[in-house]
Amino acid sequence: MGMAVSLLKVCVLGSTGSIGKSTLSVIDQNRDSYEVAALTANQNDKAMLEQCLAFKPSVAAMLDEQAAERLRQALKDAGSQTKVVQGTDALVALAAEHDIVVSAIVGAAGLMPTLAAVEAGKRVLLANKESLVMSGQLMMQAAQRSGALIMPVDSEHNAIFQCMPAPGVDGQEAGIEKIILTASGGPLRKCSLDELAVVTPQQALAHPNWSMGPKISIDSATMMNKGLEVIEACHLFSVGLESIEVVVHPESVVHSMVAYSDGSVLAQMGNPDMRTPIAHALAWPRRINSGVAPLKFTSLSGLHFEEPDVERFPCLRLAYEAQEIGGVAPAVLNAANEVAVDAFLNESVSFLQLPNIIENTLNEVKNYHASDLPTIIEADKVAREVAQKLIAN
Ligand code: NAD
Ligand code: MG
Repeated sequence: MGMAVSLLKVCVLGSTGSIGKSTLSVIDQNRDSYEVAALTANQNDKAMLEQCLAFKPSVAAMLDEQAAERLRQALKDAGSQTKVVQGTDALVALAAEHDIVVSAIVGAAGLMPTLAAVEAGKRVLLANKESLVMSGQLMMQAAQRSGALIMPVDSEHNAIFQCMPAPGVDGQEAGIEKIILTASGGPLRKCSLDELAVVTPQQALAHPNWSMGPKISIDSATMMNKGLEVIEACHLFSVGLESIEVVVHPESVVHSMVAYSDGSVLAQMGNPDMRTPIAHALAWPRRINSGVAPLKFTSLSGLHFEEPDVERFPCLRLAYEAQEIGGVAPAVLNAANEVAVDAFLNESVSFLQLPNIIENTLNEVKNYHASDLPTIIEADKVAREVAQKLIAN
């Protein structure tokens, strides 16, 4: 390679997951611009070992102590230079040290490292929507203070970003009427209530268009994912609930749209593959290769749009309610949902019990007057306890 150019150093939080792997695939195709400097994961040391050997990061962090020890030994045996660190603090420290941080941990566990990256003023590729749902105002304010650039990776929000005027332009002046958030409807879109009552985890996990981690797959089946995304959009684009419309679009080709006052509607389209929003978020305002096949319009069977059904999928309504209550309610919603989804995956509760657990938790945990970080963390903890109790009974 001729002249030495400085590569942008990327830290991937949650590298062994679905988004993490897609991110590494995009970076692999753009090694002349990006360097994988740090990887983190929970406990899958086998997957981490492979990634370390392929990308040679200077450091790898495992949350789990035994997994860290196994990884350290395996890397040593392989003659690798990658240093292994362990634990939450190590993970949070790494998030504040690199040019680009990819926030791809699942669930509330992503909150502290994501906030650390935002506070450190990094370019943050946000896939971990739960952290923004929990701490939206705090995180957006922190970004303003630090100059962090939060780039949405969630396909809908990345699409909206692409259909918006340049960041910083006033939405009203730009004539934005509405954000139209598309939803696939998930694998159970056509199921009756009777059918939903007996749905198994396997059926709920089988998403027709996207291949994703288990938690977000269940969220897609209940449509809680869309509820979390509505809240995510409120924060990312500083709009109220009334400016957002959810439309079910089963083909997942139109990833979302923005409607303007002159009647124009801008849509972002593409094959349903997360490498497109990841590549966009990495390189914006440039464009880089993602490895995603071009969209072939003449092979599409059609594009369909329908109303969401909150009778069969009440989680969407619950998310709106939590956002309307404000304060820590979205964090409570998120915590109860995480506990409920785990219980469903362990077959301790049925599919239709999920919204009940979440609604009852929301009703029980609402006596907080502050929404600073300690209060959010406390509300998250209490909501988990309440949801666990509801499940045990
Ligand atoms: P996943 O389950 O496939 O991967 C999760 C990653 O987080 C793994 O690397 C795991 O080791 C790590 N992790 C799990 N628990 C952890 C903990 N307690 N501490 C530290 N690390 C932990 O999940 P995913 O599907 O890649 O989703 C990741 C995030 O991206 C979620 O917030 C999800 O909502 C969001 N997202 C995913 C997709 C998708 O297509 N998969 C699309 C949009 C948004
Ligand atoms: Mg999405």
